[in-house]
Amino acid sequence: MKTSRRKFIGDSFKATAVALGTPLLVKASLETTEVTNRAATPIALQFSQVPLPYANNALEPSIDATTMDIHYNKHHTAYIKNVNEAIAAEKISFETENDFFKNASKLSAKAKNNGGGAWNHNFFWQVMHPTQGDNNPAGKISDAINGSFGNFEKFKQQFTEAAMTRFGSGWAWLVNENGKLKIGSTANQDNPLMDISEIKGIPILGLDVWEHAYYLKYQNKRNEYVANWWKVVNWSEVAKRLT
Ligand code: MN
Repeated sequence: MKTSRRKFIGDSFKATAVALGTPLLVKASLETTEVTNRAATPIALQFSQVPLPYANNALEPSIDATTMDIHYNKHHTAYIKNVNEAIAAEKISFETENDFFKNASKLSAKAKNNGGGAWNHNFFWQVMHPTQGDNNPAGKISDAINGSFGNFEKFKQQFTEAAMTRFGSGWAWLVNENGKLKIGSTANQDNPLMDISEIKGIPILGLDVWEHAYYLKYQNKRNEYVANWWKVVNWSEVAKRLT
């Protein structure tokens, strides 16, 4: 799986280039012409949907298989399709996800909302995994949380509050901003990489609090969804994003 946000972005771009049949590396002089042509007409960014790193039912009982199936195969797939449509139709020329989000204020609603939805869910799937028993952070991520919030329980309370007080659809985030961990939330599919976001930084943990993420199993009880979600947080993936 991806080992860091930077690698994640790189792999996502690479996957797109491969899908388009464009060689990324010049291994033989025969390929030089093609690479030169590519440089003359840069490939616009395309978003790719990462494979779900586990089966639809793997996070049960915290997240039920039907919700996971619809969430990944319907909602997320649509964000990917729609953002790529917007990039093509609007001739958006940003070449990296970072540049795309840094310029979110200049994007159309379709490009921004679906681009956020594409990225946020790619991120979300990877910071969860099946677990058994206690699921607490350890090592450097534990140290970083304790250093920023006092202890894990205080951190959990603050993050849960961010998730619970986000009115309507949105996300709760833990971000790394120049070595300091911060908690916040965004509306809709905004994320902390966007220039329009109130909370900024490198996302290292995120929680989808749209009703589509929990309504089939939990109905209006977002608090129960959040409480059970802690059991499936993939702390080693969160730790990888810390550096
Ligand atoms: Mn979602």
